[in-house]
Amino acid sequence: MTSLWIDRAPHIETDPFEQNARYDVVVVGAGLTGLTTALLLARAGQRVAVIESRRIGAVTTGNTTAKLSLLQGTHLQQIAARATRSALEAYVEANREGQSWMLRYAADHGIDVQRRDAYSYAESESGHRKVEQEHEVARAVGLPTQLTDALELPYATHGAVMLPDQAQFDPMQVLATLAGDVRAHGGVVIDGVSVTGTRTPAADDTADLVEVTTSRASVWGRRVVLATGIPVMDRGLYWARMTPQRSYAAAFRVPGSVPLGQYLSVDSPSRSVRTTPDHAGDGELLVIGGAGHPVGRHGTDGPGGKNPSPAARIAELTAWTEQHWPGSQRTHVWSAQDYEPTDGIPFVGWVPFTKRRIAMATGYDKWGMTNAVQAALQLSARLLDGELPGWAEEMGRRPAMPRSIVEGIVANAKVAWWYGRGLAHVLTTPLPAAAPAEGSGMTGRSGRRLEAVSRVDGRVCAVSPLCSHLGAPLNWNDLERSWDCPAHGSRFAPDGRRLEGPAKTDLAPR
Ligand SMILES: Cc1cc2nc3c(=O)[nH]c(=O)nc-3n(C[C@H](O)[C@H](O)[C@H](O)COP(=O)(O)OP(=O)(O)OC[C@H]3O[C@@H](n4cnc5c(N)ncnc54)[C@H](O)[C@@H]3O)c2cc1C
Repeated sequence: MTSLWIDRAPHIETDPFEQNARYDVVVVGAGLTGLTTALLLARAGQRVAVIESRRIGAVTTGNTTAKLSLLQGTHLQQIAARATRSALEAYVEANREGQSWMLRYAADHGIDVQRRDAYSYAESESGHRKVEQEHEVARAVGLPTQLTDALELPYATHGAVMLPDQAQFDPMQVLATLAGDVRAHGGVVIDGVSVTGTRTPAADDTADLVEVTTSRASVWGRRVVLATGIPVMDRGLYWARMTPQRSYAAAFRVPGSVPLGQYLSVDSPSRSVRTTPDHAGDGELLVIGGAGHPVGRHGTDGPGGKNPSPAARIAELTAWTEQHWPGSQRTHVWSAQDYEPTDGIPFVGWVPFTKRRIAMATGYDKWGMTNAVQAALQLSARLLDGELPGWAEEMGRRPAMPRSIVEGIVANAKVAWWYGRGLAHVLTTPLPAAAPAEGSGMTGRSGRRLEAVSRVDGRVCAVSPLCSHLGAPLNWNDLERSWDCPAHGSRFAPDGRRLEGPAKTDLAPR
């Protein structure tokens, strides 16, 4: 599965890995957060290395829908219900800064940006109240939203809240430009190298450098930024404070006209609609997203079922598009995940107990195009020992409110339920003697040994069925052909190779 953006991405030059090299800052992860932070630091004269385990943009940024918008579905009312008014205002200010920086950067560097009106719309009558509520909250924090019934969508709707003049782009064009710019400012961008750990210097260490261990050898930095989606470090327990959410997207070539606005439904299942210039033909491609769910929490029943599998979800999304845009032809399909904090506000700052040596950013809740940039602005201010913007201080010191605490407890109870369900299944299910059918995987017991067995492209692999992060039983993803963790969102290839999430190591082979 390759996203439209990754499929048409330009070639991105990278640098060789140099063992034992010393840098001012080692940035781990080459998504939007890592590359923007690296650029801001390199521009300030820091010697920066970006270390990426896969390829630039391979995880979430290359698989997003890339709307650069301050109207974010129903996100503002969700924050308003879970955080203080000042934290909500700081969030909006931070996103405004992130959006403005990106628009300026795109204009200065010839990145194609389409300006579009953004809509959060209701598909059901009950959704209309959410639309009105988003409008009220948005107006209260200074966003010039309007209520409207005039939508370009080819199906029945129940009104929308609209914010004019938002933006969208191709995220891989942005990453390619940022990576080139980091290198032009003396930074290095290394891909195909995984960071496996960090060691902060002891008090009597005169070199005073953080050791960054990798799949190749160590490198050293005065400071380190974990821009890995979710931090690959357990200090701070960020994995217990967020729910990893996986979501699906597809691009279509459509006969006839397509809506030019940016749309997101407020009902469930959610639907995201935008367009993008068709590089292989004339006109615009339609990009549809939605059908999300917490990572790894799916069954194998079909689209009508309560908990459809990933393959069933993309089939349903495709059927929905074909129904409303007859004759549309799917060109690409992809999926990705992002992390949802209980109060909807990202975590950005120093990782606890690292003596202000290791910083991180996470929890954008599928609104990372603006949030990754505001995080990079705050991270660079912290790393350069500069003054933090007021909105960053406010977001950093927000108190936990009762509703957010209760939702955190419920979220962790659900995690415990998935542990119990998975363990009961693995311990009580004997694996059949025959390997699974092509494209499928199963977990269970083979004698006294617990195994996850899969067959992909004819190759049968057997690995541990328990996540290398905190031992939760894994679930087979029939779309991506991966082992996904329903507890904290780590994912692994059929042969056990780590793909993403808080896990730092691969699955043990069997
Ligand atoms: C389906 C979907 C649609 C979305 N649509 C929108 C949208 O329309 N608008 C919007 O604003 N936001 C959207 N988002 C959210 C947005 O895409 C993300 O918040 C953002 O891309 C996250 O960027 P990042 O740099 O933090 O993470 P990533 O892009 O995931 O980058 C992290 C990088 O770290 C690397 N890494 C991880 N571990 C290691 C390691 N141990 N060593 C080295 N490297 C490592 C990974 O390989 C990865 O490349 C969407 C998200 C999803 C899932």
